[in-house]
Amino acid sequence: MTEVRAKKHLGQHFLKDENIAHQIADSLTGLTSHVLEIGPGMGVLTKYLHANKALDFHAIEIDTESVEYLHSHYPSLHVIEGDFLQLDLSSLFNQPFAVIGNFPYNISSQILFKVYDYRSHIPEVVGMFQKEVAERVAAKPGSKTYGILSVLLSAFYDIEYLFTVHEHVFNPPPKVKSAVIRLRRNGTDALDCDEALFTRVVKIGFNQRRKTLRNALKQLGMNLDTIPADLLAKRAEQLSVADFVAITQCIQSALPSDK
Ligand code: SAH
Repeated sequence: MTEVRAKKHLGQHFLKDENIAHQIADSLTGLTSHVLEIGPGMGVLTKYLHANKALDFHAIEIDTESVEYLHSHYPSLHVIEGDFLQLDLSSLFNQPFAVIGNFPYNISSQILFKVYDYRSHIPEVVGMFQKEVAERVAAKPGSKTYGILSVLLSAFYDIEYLFTVHEHVFNPPPKVKSAVIRLRRNGTDALDCDEALFTRVVKIGFNQRRKTLRNALKQLGMNLDTIPADLLAKRAEQLSVADFVAITQCIQSALPSDK
C-alpha cells in the first residue's frame, strides 16, 4: 500500500478494508463469466476476481506505476495499460461482460454514460462511486436527485443501492462517503421509440430541470404539438422512463414520414 503514492488527479483512493473488497467482488451475480475491472490500482479487488478461475478476467488501469505493481504481484493477470474512456469495448471480449470497480470518482459520470452506450455488451455492473453519484443513479422519479443517468440507466437496468462505505476505509480518505451499487439488465432489449432521440429528449429535458418540459424541450427545435399538455406542463424530474418514451414517440410521430 505504501509503495505507490496516491495520485489525486487519477482519483486514486485505495481501499484498505479487505472485507469490503471481498463484498464488492462477491456482488457480481454471474450473469456472465467475462469481467472487466476498471482502475484496479494495487489490486485489492483484483486479487479476489483473479483468484476465481471460472472468470475470464481483464483489468484496465491508466497509471503506469500501478500497472507495474500488478504485473509483479499477479504475473498471469491480464491488465491493459490505458484509459477506460478510450477503450474500444465492442471488441474487448467479443462476448457480453460485466464491469466492476472501485471507480475513479473524477470520471464516474463518464464511466456510466459509456456503460449506457455499450449496454448491449454489458449485462451487469458492480461498482463503488461517491455516495451522491450512487444515490443519483438509483433515484426514482420525483426525488431531487433523479436525473439524466437515473432515467437512461433505469430504462435498461435494474439498479440496486447495495451499501454505504465510510471514508476511513480508504487511503487516502476521500472527502465524501462512498456507496456500492449494482446494475443488471432488466430484460428491455429495445425501447418502443427511437433510442437516440429518447437520449436527447432526456438530456435536454434535465438540462434546465426547473423548467417545464414545454420550455426545456424548445431547444430540440422540433414540433412538440403532439405531446399531451399534461406531460408538457411537468418537469423532467417528475417523469418516469415510460413518460419519456411516450414523449419521444409523440415527437417522432410529428416528424416527416420520409425521414
Ligand atoms: N480499485 C482500487 C483503486 C481505486 S482508485 C482500490 O479499490 O484500491 C481508482 C483507480 O482508477 C486508480 O488506480 C486510478 O489510477 C485508476 N484510473 C483513473 N482514471 C482511469 C481511467 N481513465 N482508466 C482506467 N483507470 C483509471
